[in-house]
Amino acid sequence: MKVACFSTKSYDRQFIDEALESRDADLPQHEFRFLKPDLNRDTVVLADESDAICAFVNDRLDREVLEALKVAGIRFVVMRCAGFNNIDLKAAADFGIRAARVPKYSPYAVAEHAMGLLLTLNRKIHRAYHRVRDNNFSLEGLIGFDLHGRTVGIVGTGEIGKVFTRIASGFGCRCLMYDVHTDPAMESLGEYVSMERLLAESDIVSLHCPLNPHTYHLIDADALQTMKPGAIVVNTSRGGLVDAAAAIKCLKSGHLGGLALDVYEEESGLFFNDLSSQIIQDDVLTRLMTFPNVLITAHQAFFTSDAMRSIAMTTLTNLDCFESGQAVENEIVDRSE
Ligand code: NAD
Repeated sequence: MKVACFSTKSYDRQFIDEALESRDADLPQHEFRFLKPDLNRDTVVLADESDAICAFVNDRLDREVLEALKVAGIRFVVMRCAGFNNIDLKAAADFGIRAARVPKYSPYAVAEHAMGLLLTLNRKIHRAYHRVRDNNFSLEGLIGFDLHGRTVGIVGTGEIGKVFTRIASGFGCRCLMYDVHTDPAMESLGEYVSMERLLAESDIVSLHCPLNPHTYHLIDADALQTMKPGAIVVNTSRGGLVDAAAAIKCLKSGHLGGLALDVYEEESGLFFNDLSSQIIQDDVLTRLMTFPNVLITAHQAFFTSDAMRSIAMTTLTNLDCFESGQAVENEIVDRSE
């Protein structure tokens, strides 16, 4: 198939090219056109003369873009990510466009990054790194707390939440879990509780549920107020789960003890780009970056070589299945109704 690949970075191209080169000769040979721009209303024209498009987390697949894709002859969208909150699935169905994703490329990559953020923020490793390089060997202000024995609340015990629960359990944490679908196999590692109890009892809350209308601003002003004073929130899922303005108020009052973010609601246009010579116009993000107890990475939790290899291979398999008329195992199905 001819595939227009949007928001391509050097690493996307590297891993997709490697996956294409390593394929058996009897498999379909897909032709990728690598495009730097994000997909949106202005750039959708670049999909012309393709059969499918390949998109990522900040590409915008709203009704208008999907309609333009249909007009361009696009029949299939392959997402090179797990989340699909940026696709209007109802509109896609209306225009006869099917979509697939990579549901399980490496839950370890994301869960390990979430724990990395928590360890860094709690033990202030990011600050110590700079201090020591400046010959400042003082420990003043670097105190953290033992994770062992602390209570960690895990929201969403799917692929990533499960791995994170296992990691936290390995650190000797007490794990409280909340999910709309509980998994009995997880009960040896922790206890499923209500969201209210999870927020009230956790020293750390780590978010691993999808962004959808039910989870938008799950961590809002009310939720933050019900959390323990000094608790830490870790979000490696999707930015829209946290009301960042409400979090800023709670950081200023000291009620929120720390915030570790790999995702940000307004990250589109910022994350994945080098803007080091530009003035950032987003006052919420820039305010967040001023707090000593806020740690932000730019949506890199997925970014391991293992995950990139797996994303590329599964993306090609999704294309193979679609082209050959087989069932697409990773097809995205609208379950919102
Ligand atoms: P998953 O589908 O395996 O698990 C999601 C879990 O959340 C499921 O168990 C589901 O029942 C649960 N859930 C759904 N609605 C809920 C709600 N209202 N409250 C509590 N739980 C709810 O997905 P996953 O692979 O574990 O990924 C989780 C999320 O992580 C994805 O949706 C994606 O947004 C995000 N993600 C981020 C990165 C990154 O690089 N930062 C990479 C991959 C995935």
